[in-house]
Amino acid sequence: AHEGILRRQALRESAARTYARSLPIVPVRARGMTIEGADGRRYLDCLSGAGTLALGHNHPVVLEAIRKVIDSGAPLHVLDLATPVKDAFTTELFATLPPELADDARIQFCGPAGTDAVEAAFKLVRAATGRSELLAFTGAYHGMTAGALAASGGATDVRVTRLPFPHNYRCPFGTGGERGADLAARWTEYLLDDPKGGVPDPAAMIVEPVQGEGGVNPAPDGWLRRMREITRDRSIALIADEVQTGVGRTGTFWAVEHSGVVPDVMVLSKAIGGSLPLAVIVYRSGLDLWQPGAHAGTFRGNQLAMAAGAATLAYVRENGLAERAGTLGARMLARLQALSADHPSIGDVRGRGLMIGIELVDPEAGPGDVTAENGSAPPPDPVLAVAVQQECLRRGLIVELGGRHSAVVRLLPPLTLTDEQATAVVDRLADALSAAER
Ligand code: PMP
Repeated sequence: AHEGILRRQALRESAARTYARSLPIVPVRARGMTIEGADGRRYLDCLSGAGTLALGHNHPVVLEAIRKVIDSGAPLHVLDLATPVKDAFTTELFATLPPELADDARIQFCGPAGTDAVEAAFKLVRAATGRSELLAFTGAYHGMTAGALAASGGATDVRVTRLPFPHNYRCPFGTGGERGADLAARWTEYLLDDPKGGVPDPAAMIVEPVQGEGGVNPAPDGWLRRMREITRDRSIALIADEVQTGVGRTGTFWAVEHSGVVPDVMVLSKAIGGSLPLAVIVYRSGLDLWQPGAHAGTFRGNQLAMAAGAATLAYVRENGLAERAGTLGARMLARLQALSADHPSIGDVRGRGLMIGIELVDPEAGPGDVTAENGSAPPPDPVLAVAVQQECLRRGLIVELGGRHSAVVRLLPPLTLTDEQATAVVDRLADALSAAER
């Protein structure tokens, strides 16, 4: 069955298919962090549905929440009508928000993908401010629909992103140590204050607190606070895209909490649906100036996703899984950093909580490439990264690649992974790296 399914899918599916290309597995069963393939092989899943599965696969609490809705006879599809399930989800979500926002928040349910919530955020700030320009960052990823793509940086294919949206401007993301962050902030101020070539009056700035697809680049807290000051001083709405960083992944429930920054709009998806499709924006009520129907869509009322999501949010909150992600993630990061002593091909190890990136470089390739995510020599090595991913798979470990050069091995395990599983992940990765370097 395994080979047949892979063969038929490869023939029938679009040339644009992604994960199915690099991960030739046929998942048939899954629980927690473990996926079992049709060939009987078992894998530790460090992809987690692209960061969706905060509680791993088929967590009993999530399954029970879904079953409860089904057994109750409640309608499963009701557009955006008010229901007890939606009410419970909204209450649970608001309880997790930074208090300053929660006290004054509105929620808009969006089409079920993160990218649709990004579009909603853009439309909201345009309607609220009457302005249309947006500030986004190098290395950003916000989704695959036209507006979100236009705001994405080098993490996507530029041939796709060359879209007719002239009113988006890219600022440098604040990585590269204290000096890099300061330069990046000054560049942004310069762009805003330049009377001739600048962007005097944008509607919003959109930022990921940790860039995921861009290669796991954590925004320094000080830089993020400076972005908050810059936007507040100029009445620019600050949109935090927490699609990937949310629900405990980085060590706090929402990643903006590390810096204390309270954004005006938060874009939320992935883990908030407890493994089912759900996306929303929450924002300060003062921005709620768009018209009824300004952001509609058929699938904004997925009752099963709301129930699974509410159960997930509650479980993460009640069991302190954000803190656990912080401590376990720091331990994994330290072990991975220690590995770089024996592996010159590890150019950089970075991350926050259970969002970790290992940037692979070619130490023999001579002078460095200033476009590397770590901003230093030697240059990134995407060929080695692909080899490491395949060696990981051979050792029963699923990892994802990211970054502008696709040379960053990304780890996004479920927050429920055990200490033993965390150790196994690093062991298998180290092994895979040794094998791929040969
Ligand atoms: N924003 C961020 C930060 C993301 O990581 C992603 C997905 N990787 C998106 C938006 C888009 O979400 P979706 O794929 O559900 O459209």
